[in-house]
Amino acid sequence: MAKFQTVRGMQDLLPDKQEIYTDLTSRIGALLDSYGYRQIGLPLIESTDLFRRTVGEATDIVEKEMYTFEDRSGDSITLRPEGTAGCVRFAQQHGLLFNQVQRLWYCGPMFRYERPQKGRYRQFEQIGAECFGMAGPDIDAELILMLARLWRELGIDDSIGLELNSMGTIESRAAYREALVSYLTQFESDLDEDSRRRLTTNPLRILDSKNKTTQRILGDAPSIMEHLDAASRDHFEALTSLLKTAQLPFRLNPRIVRGLDYYNKTVFEWVTDSLGAQGTVCGGGRYDGLVEEVGGRATPAVGFAMGLDRLALMLEETYSHREAADIYIASAGEVARGQALLIAEQLRQDLPGKRIVTHCGDGKFKAQMKRADESAAKVAMVIGEDEVAEGAVGVKHLRDKGQQVSVAMTELSVYLKNIFE
Ligand code: ATP
Ligand code: MG
Repeated sequence: MAKFQTVRGMQDLLPDKQEIYTDLTSRIGALLDSYGYRQIGLPLIESTDLFRRTVGEATDIVEKEMYTFEDRSGDSITLRPEGTAGCVRFAQQHGLLFNQVQRLWYCGPMFRYERPQKGRYRQFEQIGAECFGMAGPDIDAELILMLARLWRELGIDDSIGLELNSMGTIESRAAYREALVSYLTQFESDLDEDSRRRLTTNPLRILDSKNKTTQRILGDAPSIMEHLDAASRDHFEALTSLLKTAQLPFRLNPRIVRGLDYYNKTVFEWVTDSLGAQGTVCGGGRYDGLVEEVGGRATPAVGFAMGLDRLALMLEETYSHREAADIYIASAGEVARGQALLIAEQLRQDLPGKRIVTHCGDGKFKAQMKRADESAAKVAMVIGEDEVAEGAVGVKHLRDKGQQVSVAMTELSVYLKNIFE
């Protein structure tokens, strides 16, 4: 065993895995771009207070999952556990909110100290999008339709479903909280320990409990839907009617409360059965009060974050990876090797996007051809002293009975372009 191993909860991405992440990021980025979103860069570190104030003191994230340190000057800093707080801080700091509409997105690692398992890591990748300045249900619908399009483009729409809920306003939620607490208090001694504690700290989070007995008790609990204020109900009805018009199926799930304090009105999750317990691939919702909470003017806002690690797990079995090379260039002898590098440079110019790999270093032609074969390249170039003297290269068709033809150097690019057309 190697002397050093990854720290618990951290993961290395081998090339095949990294390829999926890179591909996912570029495809999702292109989709967001086509809806008018602009990418921003956010730091990995924010002040600890930002998360305490926004995510909420009584949440799992703030209570037990944050990587919080004192830096060398004694300031308390935190590796970001999520992106919304930082994005709100960003939008406010740069004056992007007043009288404006913004559609922003970001990607990168998040950090949470949780129990590592498949689909759950201590450093994980998210792509998040946040919209500011739009209060109506239309932007909620647009967001959701964009995500539905993404699952279709990725070919996973059959195994992922939308769950919707409304969290109402802070006031209506307070009324619901009372109803929930008074219902659950009757069964207090049967609740799991975490839920019992949450009865006073954050009762809505009990709805999220995975404990079987607690879940059974929750079966008859009052529903948040029955306690919605009129505006939230109208908003929710308009949203669901837009989704129905767009023929997007969804499931109402009054248990979705999301793990963070800042949500109001619309909340949603995209879930799959294909990942075991870590079934939530994407979560989001509205947070109209958050900008004000961090000292800005009241600004309606809605967003989502998706976990790339879980998406990559969904894609990995059927993913078709790029070949290691399209063209492999073998050479023997010092002069030929120099020539091979120059030819490779020329081909990269003439055949953009093709993966051209040269054999660097010594080696018999036979061994080089074995490498060429392993690379899955369609053709190999063979350049030896004879070829240099003739001003030609041997082109070996690796996938076509290995036949080899001699092509004049001056004709090479055109010849190869034809092959790859
Ligand atoms: P979960 O219920 O699985 O803990 P969450 O509600 O804490 O998820 P969010 O804060 O909504 O997750 O983050 C959005 C998405 O980020 C999740 O749906 C998931 O895909 C991903 N995610 C969250 N935590 C992790 C993690 N520790 N490892 C990998 N992905 C994660
Ligand atoms: Mg979590």
